[in-house]
Amino acid sequence: MQFKKVTHVIFDLDGLLIDSEKLYTEAFETVCSKYGKIFTWEIKASLLGFQGYECADKIIKELNLPLTREEFMTECQTIYERVFKNVELMPGAQKLVEHLYRKGVPIALATSSSQDSVDMKMQNHKSFLNYFHHCIMGSSDPDVTKGKPDPAIFIVCASRFPDKPAHENCLVFEDAINGVKAACAANMQVVAVPDPRIDREQLKNATLVLNSLEEFQPELFGLPNYD
Ligand SMILES: [Mg+2]
Repeated sequence: MQFKKVTHVIFDLDGLLIDSEKLYTEAFETVCSKYGKIFTWEIKASLLGFQGYECADKIIKELNLPLTREEFMTECQTIYERVFKNVELMPGAQKLVEHLYRKGVPIALATSSSQDSVDMKMQNHKSFLNYFHHCIMGSSDPDVTKGKPDPAIFIVCASRFPDKPAHENCLVFEDAINGVKAACAANMQVVAVPDPRIDREQLKNATLVLNSLEEFQPELFGLPNYD
């Protein structure tokens, strides 16, 4: 075994288990272009892992959009309702999550999204959510006092497993720099599965960096192997 043994696993959602980041990008590009602005990869990279209202504020400020936070979010919401119906699971997500569930490894979700947003994105993947013991939704959970990169979301997530695992026994899966920082700050090991455009240097604190969930080898962390 190459890394410290873990007993519980916590997953991010957007860009990690579901291919939703490209749909957020599509929505932001559409709204920005309406006002003659270009939503670039550099702006996108600075938003990963932040809550919705924080992203809105950053985009408005960066591109000097003539919109309030509410106006921007309302325009995006209209697009989300159209595009998120078709969001797909990321490669390897179904296999890994189902495997851990069937082997009795406690797993949970920790997403910066709100309940409404998760409901919208997972409308065609409801049974997938049943694998998780619980789901922490940062934007609508009163116990999550600060968003990633603050560790609050992962600390709250660990505390809601009935056996309250020590943080060093939890493994986090994340796609965002902010999420990796949050997991490290919570003293958890973290597997990063980033967008290939993310600078790997910024993920140097991750325990392991993979190109896809399909590459994950559970036995490296003392988890039951695939049959
Ligand atoms: Mg993410």
